[in-house]
Amino acid sequence: MTISAQSVPILKDNYAWLLKDSETGATAIVDPADAAPIIKAIEAQGGRLDMILLTHHHADHTAGVDEVRAHFKCKVVGAAADAHRLPKLDVAVKEGDTVALGNAKGQVIDTPGHTRGQINFFFPEGPVLLSGDTLFSLGCGRLIEGTAGEMFASLAKLAALPGNTKVCCGHEYTESNGKFALSVDPDNAALKARMAEVHKQRAAGQPSVPSLMSDECAANPFLLARDAGSLADVRGKKDRF
Ligand code: ZN
Ligand code: FE
Repeated sequence: MTISAQSVPILKDNYAWLLKDSETGATAIVDPADAAPIIKAIEAQGGRLDMILLTHHHADHTAGVDEVRAHFKCKVVGAAADAHRLPKLDVAVKEGDTVALGNAKGQVIDTPGHTRGQINFFFPEGPVLLSGDTLFSLGCGRLIEGTAGEMFASLAKLAALPGNTKVCCGHEYTESNGKFALSVDPDNAALKARMAEVHKQRAAGQPSVPSLMSDECAANPFLLARDAGSLADVRGKKDRF
């Protein structure tokens, strides 16, 4: 049994993610903020959509939900804590709940920091992490609602996932994140190697994600931060750029 994850580029620099359970063909889309390209991508894969998964309430993650739901008659899953500001949910979830995609089970992880009600989904059968705007490749989400302490704790949970986890995040920010990362951690060989790879991918017009959790743990300054104070320092510097 495997869960595959395919990026669907939408809007300016967002990714929605198309998940498929190899055993049953069950399909989910994560953060469908622009209905037309997403409906097209799903139709190209056979036209089956069982479920919409939402990481958080921002419009660049949710704006296409009602249209996609109406088209495929699928259910919508999101955080119970943010039900009041998400599109209408069929299933409201919290940390420790699981979401069935065919025969695979996704684990819900609370990851406050970027927003208070942010959740991530982890499918051990990938292994695949849908990290929304919590963990980006070589960066993390801005602290719009949460504190550095909350983000630090959220990232620590994600860093504990298996090293071969594919990190499927919400934005193509890797190149600019990496430039910043090199400014705070210029001698990190893993970071330099990852950036060389990213430049090649982007020059070829390819997405730089998903990345591997083991690479993030070695190169991402927000996962290398020792404590919430140093994360706040690094985040504070990045927010000035
Ligand atoms: Zn966001
Ligand atoms: Fe976003």
